[in-house]
Amino acid sequence: MTDAVVVGSGPNGLAAALTLARAGLRVEVFEAHERIGGGLRTQALFDSEVLHDICAAVHPMAPVSPFMRSLGLEAHGVALLHSPAAYAHPLTGRPAALAWRDLDATCAELGGDGRRWRRLMLPLMERSADVVELMLSTQRTPPDPRALAVLATRLPAQALRVGGGLRTEAARALLTGVAAHGIGRLPSPASAAVALLLGHLAHTTGWPVPRGGSGAVAAVMAARIERLGGRIHTGVRVDSLRDLPTRRLTLLDVSPRELARIAPLPRRVPAGPVPLPVRPRCRQGRLPRRGSDPLGRPPRLPGGHGPPGRRPRHRTRTGPRRDRDGPGPADRAPVRHRGRPGRRGPGASRPGQETGVGLRPRPARRHP
Ligand SMILES: Cc1cc2nc3c(=O)[nH]c(=O)nc-3n(C[C@H](O)[C@H](O)[C@H](O)COP(=O)(O)OP(=O)(O)OC[C@H]3O[C@@H](n4cnc5c(N)ncnc54)[C@H](O)[C@@H]3O)c2cc1C
Repeated sequence: MTDAVVVGSGPNGLAAALTLARAGLRVEVFEAHERIGGGLRTQALFDSEVLHDICAAVHPMAPVSPFMRSLGLEAHGVALLHSPAAYAHPLTGRPAALAWRDLDATCAELGGDGRRWRRLMLPLMERSADVVELMLSTQRTPPDPRALAVLATRLPAQALRVGGGLRTEAARALLTGVAAHGIGRLPSPASAAVALLLGHLAHTTGWPVPRGGSGAVAAVMAARIERLGGRIHTGVRVDSLRDLPTRRLTLLDVSPRELARIAPLPRRVPAGPVPLPVRPRCRQGRLPRRGSDPLGRPPRLPGGHGPPGRRPRHRTRTGPRRDRDGPGPADRAPVRHRGRPGRRGPGASRPGQETGVGLRPRPARRHP
């Protein structure tokens, strides 16, 4: 009997397998693709010999994450290569904004926002090690008070407003593009934390690319798993938990849809993907009630309050549907924001110029 089975050899699956193997467990990894790595694969594409990173290419966390550092990439011949410009953000009709590793060079190019960029980034850079430790910690140990103070004075502005405090298009794009790596609502505390973490790393340890492509990082992890006695099977798509060997622990590093296919949820929950809300607003322990009800309950009657399926005790006479969790994405309609006349200064847009998209409340409607 094996101790642990990991399905999926993406970076998270390999990291989990290596962590378990290091703890002395017998580990087996099953990967559907012929090659390991998932989003950490590098291969030739388009009938050419040029190697491409399929997903992940740049690794800002590689020099600072304790797990990534424990891999000893350089010792395995995988050098982390740096460009003088850590990252860039394209702008319409003008040169891209650049975040140089050199903070002074970046500030010089940001014009009016140079001073604000420095005020935002320099204290994070000065406490970088503590800030990274705080952000990556399990939050079970007391945080470093100085790192906490630096973050606490910066996070709210970024969490409340996109590009919080910055005025030029270039500076706002540089910060917002990084915040969007948080994959979620913008602005939000999570995206603000990502922006501050990855943003300041551009000026400290950089955003390196591994020599040979990201696949080289996956290869180092795989080699270390196998050296510790682990086994990796490629070209094996797992369709059911019953396909797997007897084990004490199962880890599935797959998408939610694949998870539902491999390990079906209890019968009460309808098959198929549960629509993810644009903006989760359910209370703790409850799934949102939009679309098919995840618990298989009958649909709620329009405009009412009370348990689903029952006649509402009273109805909202007009206005958008509101339930106990407040208005949601369905109560809003997309809108294009355009520049208005009379606004001046850096970052101001021309009258009529499209400046973004957002959501506005839908017009009130009468329920039947
Ligand atoms: C276009 C793009 C660019 C990106 N760029 C970066 C970047 O520059 N830097 C960065 O850090 N991150 C980047 N990312 C994000 C990064 O690629 C992902 O965060 C990472 O790959 C997620 O890893 P994972 O292990 O969770 O899943 P995945 O990498 O998706 O791995 C899942 C693995 O499970 C396997 N699998 C699925 N179902 C089964 C099954 N039934 N049986 C067996 N195996 C199965 C799949 O074949 C796959 O190998 C990028 C992502 C994308 C899409």
